[in-house]
Amino acid sequence: MRNLHNALLLKQLQVLKDLGYQYTDITPSDLEPEPVQLPDDLESLRQMVEKCHLCDLSKSRHKVVFGEGNPRADLMFVGEGPGATEDSTGRPFVGRAGELLSKMIENVLFLKREEVYIANIVKCRPPGNRVPTPTEAFTCRPYLLKQIELIAPKIIMTLGATAYRYLSNDETPISRVRGHIVRTEKYLIVPTFHPSYLLRNPSAKKQAWEDLIKVKELLETL
Ligand code: URA
Repeated sequence: MRNLHNALLLKQLQVLKDLGYQYTDITPSDLEPEPVQLPDDLESLRQMVEKCHLCDLSKSRHKVVFGEGNPRADLMFVGEGPGATEDSTGRPFVGRAGELLSKMIENVLFLKREEVYIANIVKCRPPGNRVPTPTEAFTCRPYLLKQIELIAPKIIMTLGATAYRYLSNDETPISRVRGHIVRTEKYLIVPTFHPSYLLRNPSAKKQAWEDLIKVKELLETL
């Protein structure tokens, strides 16, 4: 029966060959999609991201939270993903965690919020503020990487475990890696705790403050 099936298939292939069809050897790399070209200016990138429907988060979002701040900032903060206030305003870190982040920037780094750039791993709110799935994070990652390329910060402070994991592709727990200086080709990553974690665990603020002081010193030397 199997032989008959194969013989019929061969016959059909022969008919196609007689009609002029040619056999092409498709290697896996031929099947990989062409990398999408992302715009080379922040405003065009923002417009593209605002129309993004590449993952399920786009179905429930109210506003895309692209990021904001100084497009030439030396220091960039990367959080996990928008919460409810961010989803309704379209701005990053404007809820309770955002208030704390603003204080950290102003009172420890002695910088204005507008002087740094603030973005997230995913640009749309995960429902119920759950952690973004790996698919969501990796789908959104090219936008963040392009944003980083265009802003070209010297230092990126990642806020919390998710931000560090997906920016660096390193699974080291945040408790072990926080406060370290992770060197990449183009910038330094200094992971610290997420402001929401600090709101729930005020005793960890001391360590986060130490991380900020380290960043302040680095900014003065770079
Ligand atoms: N938490 C985040 O990680 N990002 C925001 O923008 C707000 C809260």
